[in-house]
Amino acid sequence: MSRQALEELKQQIPLLEYLQAQDWQPARHLNRGRWMGLCPLHADHKPSFLVDPGKSLFYCYGCGRGGDVIRFVELYHEVKFPQALALLHQWRGLAPLLLEAAGLYRMQLNRHGEAMAYLHQRGVRSPELIEHMRIGYAPGGCLRGWLAQLGHALPALRQAGLVTTAGYDAFIHRIVFPLEGNLYGRSISTSAPPHRFLPGAKGGLYSWQQVRHCPEVILVEGLFDYAALWEAGFRNVTCSLGTHLNARQFRQLCDASRTVYLTFDADSNGSGQQAAQCLSRSLRERGITARLVSLPEGHDPNSFFVSGGNAHEFHRLLEEACL
Ligand SMILES: [Zn+2]
Repeated sequence: MSRQALEELKQQIPLLEYLQAQDWQPARHLNRGRWMGLCPLHADHKPSFLVDPGKSLFYCYGCGRGGDVIRFVELYHEVKFPQALALLHQWRGLAPLLLEAAGLYRMQLNRHGEAMAYLHQRGVRSPELIEHMRIGYAPGGCLRGWLAQLGHALPALRQAGLVTTAGYDAFIHRIVFPLEGNLYGRSISTSAPPHRFLPGAKGGLYSWQQVRHCPEVILVEGLFDYAALWEAGFRNVTCSLGTHLNARQFRQLCDASRTVYLTFDADSNGSGQQAAQCLSRSLRERGITARLVSLPEGHDPNSFFVSGGNAHEFHRLLEEACL
């Protein structure tokens, strides 16, 4: 890649925009338009991460690292230079597309009674929660036309996985949750596979920036579990989107000393509990306190609340959670 092409890429992706898309929040304004915030690269407790949007450069007074958006991607995703470039190219193409797709899906939610009924049945009732999780609905058959109107070419939609090779919307009759660089679609009909992601990584832990400073974190495997706990008033919840954590999610859990309450499904075949035990061992090896929460058999956190469980009872489960 030529020097000029590199400069172009950096111009197209302002560092601040990229940081904010990773949920980074500026904490303090400095002179000359610069910002200080918590460092996303190390376990930071007081803002030591300086961002200069004018120059698109960062420097951390805590871990001593700094550079441009490419350097940030290298450090943040722990990849080498060529992979960092690939990630940025992909992100540049994907970010506006996913935002627009998620925007359309959000508009569709209120227009489809079947989607609202499904959410209701899963315990997702408050408008604040729908807003907080930016929940939408993909009825199918409207995304491709909408994005084409906004000027997105069909090959880009196919590449992002939003449209199938045959040209149809990939998400049909699915409740949609925006993730970091991806979308998760939960089918509301029983005839389709329940879970679906767009191609690519599932990203880090859900809503991590909002919980990473909590000394105690509740980890669940599904977004509807997250939703039920949030609705019940728990704010120190995060979700790994499955019982298998990717390397980045595992690193996030280990980035500071904390207690993690592993609250995976209590399936009758024991697979959730097995995964939780395995994870708790790995966490303990890294000095993290892990506690296994036992739900009544056959329940996940979502069904626990939907079937009448309350916050008080869940608190008791947390207290009883074993090391
Ligand atoms: Zn740092």
